[in-house]
Amino acid sequence: MDDFVYAETDPAELDQYREEVETWMNENMPRRDPVNPWHPTQDDDLRSSRNRELQRRLYDGGYAAVCYPKEYGGQSLTAAHQKIIDDVSMDFDMPVLFSIPTLSICGPVILEFGTEEQKQRYIPAWIRGDELWVQFISEPSGGSDMAGALTRADRDGDEFIINGSKIWSTFAQRSDYALMLARTNWEVPKHRGLTMFIVPIHHPGIEIHPIQMVDRTEEFCQEFFNDVAIPAENVVGKVNDGWTVASRLLFHERAAVGNASPYTQGRHRNRTADGVEDLAAIARVHGGADMGRHRQRLGYMETLSRVEELLSDRVVKGIEGGFLPAPAGSLVRLFHGLSRTERQTVAMEMQGDSALVWNQGESTGAFGLEYIQRQQACIGGGTTEMARNIISERILGMPREPAADRDLPFNQVPRSG
Ligand SMILES: Cc1cc2nc3c(=O)[nH]c(=O)nc-3n(C[C@H](O)[C@H](O)[C@H](O)COP(=O)(O)OP(=O)(O)OC[C@H]3O[C@@H](n4cnc5c(N)ncnc54)[C@H](O)[C@@H]3O)c2cc1C
Repeated sequence: MDDFVYAETDPAELDQYREEVETWMNENMPRRDPVNPWHPTQDDDLRSSRNRELQRRLYDGGYAAVCYPKEYGGQSLTAAHQKIIDDVSMDFDMPVLFSIPTLSICGPVILEFGTEEQKQRYIPAWIRGDELWVQFISEPSGGSDMAGALTRADRDGDEFIINGSKIWSTFAQRSDYALMLARTNWEVPKHRGLTMFIVPIHHPGIEIHPIQMVDRTEEFCQEFFNDVAIPAENVVGKVNDGWTVASRLLFHERAAVGNASPYTQGRHRNRTADGVEDLAAIARVHGGADMGRHRQRLGYMETLSRVEELLSDRVVKGIEGGFLPAPAGSLVRLFHGLSRTERQTVAMEMQGDSALVWNQGESTGAFGLEYIQRQQACIGGGTTEMARNIISERILGMPREPAADRDLPFNQVPRSG
């Protein structure tokens, strides 16, 4: 599969499409409540069922995952069409839970490496809102070194038997399937003995333990696999070639997290690239004597916002046009992580005490919660440190970081525990 195809589209056709989307959204999608926007702290069951229902509405209207091929339930449209949907949908509740990782990370991986049976079985189910996916990649021994996976999958006839543990899987307890990287050969260097699998999450032998976070939500889970039998037909790509699949998964993850994927649908208003409207609203409420300082902060954030948007655009076009290598997605990922963290810090500074204590239903509470979660933008989708490594080694051509385990058979790599 080519990296994303950004076909040229007739501007008049796009204007017409925008009008259609606006009309349809107004008639069919619930408007976002600006005072109490849909927020992750709301009940997890409700969040899952609500997202499934909204995804189904989009599908019924013909506006779900429009860049996917028609034969799998999409509309075979361009990234420009999806961008129109994203712009128009800013004021509406959208099924963003389906965006990352289901449609924008797992989806393109299955499109690229899946068998025809896998594509027909799974892709339409996401687009209709029937099935949510998650990634089982990170392990308790560390998520940055993906190729160091210790979870094992041993062949037994037509099945693989899985043992081990994955962690930090977003919303696994409410999801249906996972893409999982496991070790199938211990006698070759680490990158050469991995295989990617499709794993049904609620399956005999899989224990799911939700992890409570600082804001009391249970976004993450840890899973334990005890002799879990998975049919060999669930292998994605080739056995022992999971690193090829995982590398593409990382490419799509960087694009999704950096707002450069045509497969995400709907956007959160708190993305830096979406401007400073909500920060301006804080200034209007809490401005007072501090208004001059707030103006400076807004100007600073507006600058970051413009730069992020232009950077994202340039990187997408650069990869597409061949003047930037695929790892350039890490530039957007790094900038997004840092600017998002900065944005939440600025929101907190502007709001002062009222970001710390609020009444149920007041919008100010969202900023306090986002502040304590702000580092996630520098960790999820690969950390900003790893993004810096990729930029230095694979874009700037600096020497590779030394790795004692790169060429050793994996079963000879010294490790603790
Ligand atoms: C919001 C969010 C959602 C997530 N969703 C999922 C999910 O659905 N599925 C999933 O599998 N995982 C998920 N993760 C986990 C995420 O992928 C990992 O947290 C991340 O890859 C880092 O792994 P780690 O936490 O184990 O840190 P480690 O890999 O242990 O790293 C610890 C620290 O060391 C630094 N470090 C490590 N190696 C190097 C190096 N070579 N050079 C420089 N610095 C280095 C890291 O940057 C980090 O600061 C999610 C995380 C977040 C925050």
